[in-house]
Amino acid sequence: MKIAIFNENLLGLVMGERVADISSVVGWDTVNPNESFLKLVENYQDLKSKIYAEIEFCPTYHLSEVKLKSPVPETRKIWAAPVNYRNHQLEMNKMFNNAPRTIEEIKLFLKSPESLSGPADPILLPIKGRRTDHEAELGYVVGKKAKNVPASEAKDYIFGYFALLDISIRGNEERTWRKSFDTFTPIGPWIVTADEIEDPNDLAMKLWVNDEIRQDGSTKHLIYDCYQCFEAANQNMTLHPGDIIATGTPEGVGPIKAGDCVRIEIEKVGAFTVNVQYAEKVVTEYCVR
Ligand code: MN
Repeated sequence: MKIAIFNENLLGLVMGERVADISSVVGWDTVNPNESFLKLVENYQDLKSKIYAEIEFCPTYHLSEVKLKSPVPETRKIWAAPVNYRNHQLEMNKMFNNAPRTIEEIKLFLKSPESLSGPADPILLPIKGRRTDHEAELGYVVGKKAKNVPASEAKDYIFGYFALLDISIRGNEERTWRKSFDTFTPIGPWIVTADEIEDPNDLAMKLWVNDEIRQDGSTKHLIYDCYQCFEAANQNMTLHPGDIIATGTPEGVGPIKAGDCVRIEIEKVGAFTVNVQYAEKVVTEYCVR
């Protein structure tokens, strides 16, 4: 099932080029979409048949008529994989002349939950003159509370997948700071539920800036695959439904600037395009003294 949130926080089921408003079928509350989302995640198996039984009575819209929002309304945390592809490690070494260590050594980092944004929201650059890069990644949302769940069982705990951009200012500051500005984690265009993705560790992934292809990779080259990332993120640390995991970027990262269009596409998941612009209070230096 492709689950979207659109317009004024309506819940949508995407079918081809159309989206059906299934809000009333699942008792979705547009004022509290996060609460409704967590109920949907919890009761998905029961709601699935109800949705399919009643879908023909739901109003539908062409995707071009609606505004898609972040398919996860809110999150408690975003665990992200740092260097999780060998070729990305090599390019970072070439670009910055110091080989970053991989996920095997440095494990995961947190991005601020506030950095989450939707597939139609612009990326807002906060600092003029600082290199800010795109990173195309496969992301997923946790469906069940988990602690000490091994990779071999992770499949049962993942609710669904989406394309994710891990927007990153380059530099020596903490990763968390460089990657946590508002709009620095666009996700979308919808959630493809895990029952429709047989193998998340073999998905082609591409990213364009304007008309130029910058990244052309596959999750089959992940160092820690989707399930190993899950294991790392819940070893003696609790994961909750709604938590997000960003699995890392393949090679081809590069700078974005105001006026650019960034398009990410993941096989069997979907694609979205976001604009890049300056934030309302863009600064040239970011210092707190
Ligand atoms: Mn990343």
